[in-house]
Amino acid sequence: MKARTHDLAAATALGIVVLAQPNRTMTLGTALVALLANQVGGIAPDIDQPTAPFWRNLPIGGFVGKIIDRMLGGHRFITHSVIGLVLFGFLVQMLLAALPIMPGIDTGFVWLAFMIGMVSHLVMDSFTKEGVPWLLPLPIKFGFPPAKALRVTTGTLGEGIIFAVLLLFDIGYCSMHYWELRELIHQRIL
Ligand SMILES: [Zn+2]
Repeated sequence: MKARTHDLAAATALGIVVLAQPNRTMTLGTALVALLANQVGGIAPDIDQPTAPFWRNLPIGGFVGKIIDRMLGGHRFITHSVIGLVLFGFLVQMLLAALPIMPGIDTGFVWLAFMIGMVSHLVMDSFTKEGVPWLLPLPIKFGFPPAKALRVTTGTLGEGIIFAVLLLFDIGYCSMHYWELRELIHQRIL
């Protein structure tokens, strides 16, 4: 899937989790950093792809991307598995503990937002023909629906339809939860 589909899917998943926790309050700083972490998590698994926007937007990113790609076993390998989730989860936790983060930022929630983004990436890639090796080192790529012919190819009309469905879902979900969303913005983000 393309980065913009992953961005939308990550934000959608974060929105669902936040709206399902009606008593959670957070600082504005936490909300903004968590949103950023969620978006980074949403594209993080594709650091194993030298042509990913993540690398394209960095100077000499293509070169670094190629090295990382080899180290991680190629595209859709370890970063697209449960082991990858655990590894990234551990690394991000270490990073958050080491960084001089502003007071008032709930690093636990920032970590959760990153992980939600990352899981959403794997779920979205599961809808593609290529599938996802969720259970590495088991060399099987899983996808949904199980029949490959019914899955989409990245960048084609099928992905466009998935993007549109996500967008419609977001509009519907936000309308359904209008009052919770209003309360979140007005009273729960401090
Ligand atoms: Zn991917």
